[in-house]
Amino acid sequence: TQGVSSAASDVYKRQILIYALLIGCDNSEKKIEEVNLYSQRHYKVDEKQYENFTKKTGIKVNVIKANADELIERLKNEGENSPADLFVSVDAGKLQKGANLGLFQKVSNRVIENNVSKDLLDKNGFWIPITYRARIIVYSNDRVKKEDLSTYEDLSHEKWKGRILVRSSSNAYNQALMSSIVANLGSDVASKWSNAVVQNFARDPKGSDRDQVKAIAAGQGDIAIVNSYYIGLLLSSQKEEELNAGKAVSVFFPNQNDRGSHINVSGIGLTKNSPNKENAIKLMEYLTSEEAQNTYVNNSYEYPANPMVKPSKIVQDWGEFKRDNLDLNNLGIYRDEALKIFDKTGWK
Ligand code: FE
Repeated sequence: TQGVSSAASDVYKRQILIYALLIGCDNSEKKIEEVNLYSQRHYKVDEKQYENFTKKTGIKVNVIKANADELIERLKNEGENSPADLFVSVDAGKLQKGANLGLFQKVSNRVIENNVSKDLLDKNGFWIPITYRARIIVYSNDRVKKEDLSTYEDLSHEKWKGRILVRSSSNAYNQALMSSIVANLGSDVASKWSNAVVQNFARDPKGSDRDQVKAIAAGQGDIAIVNSYYIGLLLSSQKEEELNAGKAVSVFFPNQNDRGSHINVSGIGLTKNSPNKENAIKLMEYLTSEEAQNTYVNNSYEYPANPMVKPSKIVQDWGEFKRDNLDLNNLGIYRDEALKIFDKTGWK
């Protein structure tokens, strides 16, 4: 019986070994494929993009949303232990800031580089663009003639006294615009400009870009400085108030006879210690692909970073425009100077 029992125990041991191996294999197969985003973007289209990506690849996309400075702070504090793979921002200035703090690693990937316009790429290789937007002037169809508009600089003219609507200087879009003016024209010119523009305000800055357009429709001012896609969002809105606001104004691209209109990108940086780097790069490739770029333009009315894709019909109707080809890292480099100017000139 001794021999039988020993043989049985051998079989038993072998079975345990096989189970252990199976469990081992099973565990490694169950490792979740995922990618972790820290995102400043606040648009519905993003969820759609990530769902489409997951359907295609099986890679789960986890998103933490907050404002850019909070996310940068978080990346800094988490250091090497950060779960984040990608930092997504609506401002090249914040991407420059993250890169400058050493939070990102360079990405050199032929698929992505072939997907996007060369002039929108970061010259240092630390971030990639996914969309871009122009900070434009919109004007009342009833009270302003197109011929009265020309440049951002012209907004300092006294003919605009009591007529300009714009949001607060605490907003990143305005900070980027002011940074571009400092970078292009210098601090002194930018200060004088800001001072005069503040004198022309229709009211103290308040509300969002969309609220400035609504204020034009309500007769509280005649022109506003806003991001281009908000006009697309208003014109495609189901809400009557928004639709009417969109219809009350026309789009004007400033500085078409000189440097071009100020643009900013929405873009992505790959974190320095990205734990899911392969998946992160796959997502960057996907978001710059024609398929995803079409999803962006038709839902958020931004301009595509991929030149093979056309803007949405609504946006195409505004016509093509010349964009300021300033190195967009300047939007980060001159940020502090821009804040000083806002403060000094009383742009609330
Ligand atoms: Fe926005």
